[in-house]
Amino acid sequence: MTSLFNRFGRSLVGVLVLLLVVSAAHADAPFSFDTTPGQLPKTVTPIHYTLNLQPNLEALTVAGSAVIDVEVRTPTDRFVLNAVDMTFSAASLDGVSQTPSIAVDKDAQTVTLTFPRAIEAGRYKLRIAYSGQINKFGRGIYSIDYRTDDGRKRMIASHSEPTDARRIFPSWDEPAFKATFDLTVTVPERFMAVSNMPVAREGPAGSGSKRVSFERTPKMSTYLFVLVAGELERLTGEAEGIAIGVVTTRGKSANGRYAIEQTADLLKYFNEYFAAKYPLPKLDLVALPSNSASAMEHWGAITFFESGLLYDPAKSTIETQRRVFSLLAHEIAHQWLGNLVTTAWWNDLWLNEGFASWMQYKVADALHPEWQPWFNSISAKQGAMAQDARRSARAITQPVANETEARTVFDAITYSKGQAVVRMVETYMGEDVFRDAMRRYMKEHAYSNATSADLWHALDAVSGKAIGLLASPYAAQPGVPLVIADSRCVDGEQRIALKQDRFTVRDPAAQAQRWQVPVRFGLPDGTAATVLLDGETEIAAGRCGDAVKLNLSDVGYYRVRYDTTMQGALARRLASMAPADRVNLLADSWALTEANRNPPSAYFELADRLSGDDHRSVADQVIRTLSRVYRLERGRPGQATFAAYARGTLRPLFDHVGWQVVDGEPADRALLRARLIRTLGDLGDEAVLAEARRRFDAFLQDAASLPPNLRDAVTHLVGRGADRATYQTLLGLGRTSTNTEERVRYYSALAGVLDPALARETLAIALTEELPNDVSRRLINWVAEGEHPDLALEFVKTNFEALATKHGSSFRNTFVSNLMANFSDPARAEELKAFAPVYETSGGRMVAERTRERILADAEFVAEQMPAIDEWVRRRRNSQ
Ligand SMILES: [Zn+2]
Repeated sequence: MTSLFNRFGRSLVGVLVLLLVVSAAHADAPFSFDTTPGQLPKTVTPIHYTLNLQPNLEALTVAGSAVIDVEVRTPTDRFVLNAVDMTFSAASLDGVSQTPSIAVDKDAQTVTLTFPRAIEAGRYKLRIAYSGQINKFGRGIYSIDYRTDDGRKRMIASHSEPTDARRIFPSWDEPAFKATFDLTVTVPERFMAVSNMPVAREGPAGSGSKRVSFERTPKMSTYLFVLVAGELERLTGEAEGIAIGVVTTRGKSANGRYAIEQTADLLKYFNEYFAAKYPLPKLDLVALPSNSASAMEHWGAITFFESGLLYDPAKSTIETQRRVFSLLAHEIAHQWLGNLVTTAWWNDLWLNEGFASWMQYKVADALHPEWQPWFNSISAKQGAMAQDARRSARAITQPVANETEARTVFDAITYSKGQAVVRMVETYMGEDVFRDAMRRYMKEHAYSNATSADLWHALDAVSGKAIGLLASPYAAQPGVPLVIADSRCVDGEQRIALKQDRFTVRDPAAQAQRWQVPVRFGLPDGTAATVLLDGETEIAAGRCGDAVKLNLSDVGYYRVRYDTTMQGALARRLASMAPADRVNLLADSWALTEANRNPPSAYFELADRLSGDDHRSVADQVIRTLSRVYRLERGRPGQATFAAYARGTLRPLFDHVGWQVVDGEPADRALLRARLIRTLGDLGDEAVLAEARRRFDAFLQDAASLPPNLRDAVTHLVGRGADRATYQTLLGLGRTSTNTEERVRYYSALAGVLDPALARETLAIALTEELPNDVSRRLINWVAEGEHPDLALEFVKTNFEALATKHGSSFRNTFVSNLMANFSDPARAEELKAFAPVYETSGGRMVAERTRERILADAEFVAEQMPAIDEWVRRRRNSQ
């Protein structure tokens, strides 16, 4: 799954988790069904589900029947299955005359069938008739109301990861209970129905309905089940003998061409990489007008939020194009990493998500090297490291006790730390050896499950080295290694002593951790070497004073602190350093500042040297840091001066890049231009704001006058400064557009408005049916990430019950915590503590506690470092 993204692609669900001490007994054992964690007894297991679903789109119910081939492994009188929001009318076992009693446990999310006498071991057919619900909040089967040129339409879709298949059919809804599925669904005749497998047959079902049956799925986990039905159309292609389809609402499939072309390349790459062919006969890519995640890897029918799949070469931005590719790469990688071989339990989710995230960049590097995907993805790793340095840091393989906790592990630790650790290990082993190990892992666990221990086993077996010993501490314990480098001069030769510590932010009592750190370093003669740091070591590195860069190419998951001599030598060589190393140096320097291990001046002096650097990711690192400080300055006397300093730092770079799009310019230049315009405007650059306004007015006369790549930034700035008339213009554009990329652009611009009265009007839209449900929830986040987190929070608290009913239990338990991550006032941490709904579940409590720590850490940073930053800025301004 790829989780919600805001306008900068930052994960909204990725905040911090409180380390929960639960038994870690299974953390390092190979997969065994019987010892896999979970809540269901393993005495009865499903082999095959025959499902018959009749959704009623008016009543928002589903009449269902499930015939489940089960194996009773040891005699028992109780069958325990998962079920949520279902009512049961009958249950029976073929060939068994006893009738079971049916008991639903709402809290445990189970239904228990109790037979008068024990059922003997053996195979049976279990028949259950039930009625389920269609909700509007994206869990299980949900309805989507969307706008078309022919008026409003309703369709249904499903999303079950991690634990919502139990809302669609009674099931053993844990990933280790794999089974095959036959689905028959009754839908209106005008509908197209899409599921994991191709349609096997279709026939009339009376009163304007038809019955659609699908071919049998391979053995798979329940969370991969999918059903989508509506007035849809399909654009088709073919590659590697697989039928590829892009499925959209009517009139939109032409923009699926790009996705089909890229999918053809991706299937070819993955078939070869994994040495295992994509096993289904077809792969549909389904664009939904509303989707709780950006994308979900359902086997054979991946679902996407529309703007994450459809690409219009004439109107879409480069960002959209790259996002489409990234999501495709990630979700198609899951067809192997997750679908074919599945994490045994949610504590090992990184085997699905860390690996799919790593592969998304790896395959981009192979197919689109000019995008510099690793280099341009550095912020993901940095985000994970920031989270991993806090007191509430959790291990990648943290135990997961229940479904609310399962929802919390879809975060930066699982995705981005996971991805970074995989890349570090792959680099250390060598790409070919690592690939061979992946092939072995696929072969050994296909159609089954795996744990981290199974992965280590494959890496060890293929490499002949103890790779698991090196890699497992990165997964099994929280924290970021810090490599401390101290140089000395011996007869003109430079010797560098390396030792390790744990890098923490405001956590003096952190438990010590130890890692084997593969330290790759660059020698003055241009060559690279790697030393495995396990404790302390010393390396010889050129002549005294030579610049030696550690974590060369930024492939490692650790931070580095250089002594002043080394830092000085590196600063002098900055211009000739590879861009990835420049970014890495900046990022480590800023992290040391946040950790109170460096004065802010150390970072700002480095950033000053690099402020004219037009490599997008170098500039991005500086922009991100300046924007963060600017936000932390909110409400403080130094904010205006800091804004002036930040504008002064970025302006020369923008003058160099300019407004004018040059034919044939690199895509990175266009992306940097848009980013600079947006940031400078947010920082109050009057010239940029005026030009954005002028260009927007011209756009209203002639849309073609504004290049697609400038539209997000320009629209954002116009929305930000909007008066009522401009606000109404943007709202009108948002309301009339049926293109999701455009609608997101207009509504997010409305969410960024400075005028508080207008911001309140934007928030009020979230209570109406104007936007699909998931988009209206994002609207609140956009307001919070803009200038009015206070108004967004007040709005959510005032309308909490109405919003919680609309958006479901995960909104109730985590939304306020995630919203509050935008604050740095300690009083807000207290306020969150007093907000009862976020403490109702253990998963909600984890999210709340890590948000509280984040608020308090930011508050401390403001108190301790902001005066020094203000002072540095003041002196810098005076000397200019
Ligand atoms: Zn994923």
